[in-house]
Amino acid sequence: MASLEDLTKILKEKGFKKNEIDTIKRAHFFTDTAHKNQVRKSGEPYITHPTQTAINLVNMNLDTPTITAGLLHDVPEDTTYTLVDIEKEFGSEVAKLVTGVTNLGKIKYRGIERFAENLRKMFISMAQDVRVILIKMADRLHNMQTLYYLPKEKQKRISMEVLEIYAPIAHRLGMGQIKGQLEDLAFPYAYPEEFKKFQSQVISNYKDRVKYINELIEKVRDELLKEKIKIYTIHGRTKHLYSLYRKLMRPQYNNDISRIYDLVAVRIVVPTVEDCYKVLGIIHQMWKPLPGRIKDYIAQPKPNSYQSLHSTIFGPKKTMVEFQIRTQEMHQQAEFGIAAHWRYKQMGKGYMSRLKGYHHKGYKTPKKLDWINELASWQSEIGDNEEFLKELKIDVFQDRLLVFTPNGDVIDLPEHATPIDFAYYIHSDIGNHCVGAKINEKIEKLDTPLRSGDVVEILTDRSRKGPSRDWLSIAKTSSAKSKIRNYFSKG
Ligand code: MN
Repeated sequence: MASLEDLTKILKEKGFKKNEIDTIKRAHFFTDTAHKNQVRKSGEPYITHPTQTAINLVNMNLDTPTITAGLLHDVPEDTTYTLVDIEKEFGSEVAKLVTGVTNLGKIKYRGIERFAENLRKMFISMAQDVRVILIKMADRLHNMQTLYYLPKEKQKRISMEVLEIYAPIAHRLGMGQIKGQLEDLAFPYAYPEEFKKFQSQVISNYKDRVKYINELIEKVRDELLKEKIKIYTIHGRTKHLYSLYRKLMRPQYNNDISRIYDLVAVRIVVPTVEDCYKVLGIIHQMWKPLPGRIKDYIAQPKPNSYQSLHSTIFGPKKTMVEFQIRTQEMHQQAEFGIAAHWRYKQMGKGYMSRLKGYHHKGYKTPKKLDWINELASWQSEIGDNEEFLKELKIDVFQDRLLVFTPNGDVIDLPEHATPIDFAYYIHSDIGNHCVGAKINEKIEKLDTPLRSGDVVEILTDRSRKGPSRDWLSIAKTSSAKSKIRNYFSKG
């Protein structure tokens, strides 16, 4: 159960300054007051949730405004305090972040898998500041850790949402640690049967592998010391359960766990890029590499900026072992992705050089997150050119609205579109018989401008004769207007 003391302790460990810690403490007090007397489903005081969310954000190396907003993230939704109060107390940067989180919270997974991609896109395009998504990740991480206390139905929905939406976004942003944690928390709830079977199959394999790998590590450590290579860490990294499950499901593995060489991999972190290649050479002298399995993600990073050298070797007892070799900053990048450099950047060079080995020649700290480039490289993974342009258009031109039908279908409308446009988009018959609209389950006027993320339900009445003429000024899309005119011209 996370407390203010835990939060303060880790802030100090991470080198936050006194004024930063004071702001965060103030936000903690504010949130504690706002959520007073509220409890979580687990029975714990509500404040434990924002506190753990904030701790997750500190662990992700985020900055003071993000951590502050993390503490406040549920205040506008669940308490009598408003965004205006937050802005007054903590300024506009924090208020904007909290607004973003509140809006993203309105996107709900509605169980239709083919819409997952749309949801992902909407998620991204709605968050104008990527830190909003990071807060959402930290929030979701704690919710998953306490999911046990929710009703079964909700457990399933939330877990599917994690596997379909949150984890892929975390992966895209290069946040390997969060992705792995989220998936492994969601797996047993999303696929309980498969999980049970899988777990018992895997655990015995894991134990044997870990023992084997630990013996191997000692041999490598001795050899590297002989060659005078400084090692930051060398350890066995066990593959996350869910990603192993997914891999085994692929046809080429045919559910045969002995074909998965990175079940437990050896991870070596060394000071410089040069060291990485040296270590690879030394390992290849100790054991023969498996042809076609040497991957240089340093020279050619993965699209999500992941860097490392990978090689699978024929180890002792004819067992294949994967090695992953990287520098400290590549490791940071692999674990925290987009969040990895946020605070270090902010704290300036002095702090950077105090982090031993944080710098090496030829490594560029990302200057500024270029969101469009990030998206573009994501889209390029799709591969299909026409598709790429279509998607890019949606993401870049934010004057598009993405709204839902009650079934979870995503409808793409131009900015300022109204329920009338929505109704005619579905079908002219729905438009002609429209008598009202529910937006996010509340009855609203037909000229209410829709916003991305709204769930829109059109109320119809068969006895209604047809559209009314003033709908022509309410409709914003030419197709709705022409359908309305069409009705009148037919008389
Ligand atoms: Mn929350």
